[in-house]
Amino acid sequence: MNVTRILYRGSLSSCNYACGYCPFAKTTNTRAELDRDWQQLDRFVDWVEASQRPVGVLITPWGEAIIHRYCREAMIRLSWMDHVHRVVIQTNLSGHLDDLSEARVDRMAIWATFHPDETDLPRFLKRCQTLDDLGIRFSVGVVGFKEHFDAIANLRSRLGSDIYLWVNVPKSSNIQYSADDVHFLQSVDPYFRWNAHRWPSLGKPCQTGWSSFTVDGEGEARRCHFVDDVIGNIYQDNIWASLQRRDCPNATCGCHIGYVHRDDFELDRVYGGNLLERIPNHWPDVDSTMTHPPSPHGLPIFPHSGD
Ligand code: SF4
Ligand code: SF4
Repeated sequence: MNVTRILYRGSLSSCNYACGYCPFAKTTNTRAELDRDWQQLDRFVDWVEASQRPVGVLITPWGEAIIHRYCREAMIRLSWMDHVHRVVIQTNLSGHLDDLSEARVDRMAIWATFHPDETDLPRFLKRCQTLDDLGIRFSVGVVGFKEHFDAIANLRSRLGSDIYLWVNVPKSSNIQYSADDVHFLQSVDPYFRWNAHRWPSLGKPCQTGWSSFTVDGEGEARRCHFVDDVIGNIYQDNIWASLQRRDCPNATCGCHIGYVHRDDFELDRVYGGNLLERIPNHWPDVDSTMTHPPSPHGLPIFPHSGD
């Protein structure tokens, strides 16, 4: 059965954390803005319910959404729809999680990011334990800043070995890794090199706009978060009829939720049905043929030392 992946991002634009590199750090929304985001999300969930299409939903908020009860309620609702194969959210894992026990937990998954400057490891691990106790699968991620390497090593050593820990490379900071850095990061996340570059993508076949698309709070659908062209509105158009294979119109693509849909990368071999939650299919077994992606022509951030 073909499952269409939908990435949803409403109008929320606030977060309780203060990560220095993020535009949503310590931003707040007014009550009226949160009510609007709530209504948008409810409308989207109603649409998913009515569509009866086999879908997976990944909520990719601008900021932190699951701290809001209405977001958890929406996820719980989605999880009980027979045609919704997965409901996933990106989160800093700071919020209450216990009421997710009301969900059909085998359909739910969490993409959790650890921010060492914003929380401490025991608190974060306790939230991971809560997910475990609830039976909700999750991946954990970090941003590969060098000043966080000790925290990353500590996290890896204390997370269960069955939990995948991914590393995102802060490409916009022009970080340069040494051979030792690369060795360390590769030991944490065997697939981290896929995230190390902005991949040249112009004209490359990409599943976005075909087997996956994004939706904003007003229902505007785009092939991905990185191409502005609207392909339809889910509330006004038959969006399913608008889906077709398209090549990438952008020069580069450097974000996991984007390039993971590239046909030529074949990353479904790594993630399979767990692509939305970023959990490798056979983790902790590793497909070593996928740990060394092709050489890009982007910014070199690795040493040329044959590491
Ligand atoms: S937790 Fe995420 S959304 Fe919040 S400030 Fe940090 S990077 Fe931004
Ligand atoms: S390669 Fe990236 S930017 Fe291009 S269409 Fe796919 S997801 Fe979008």
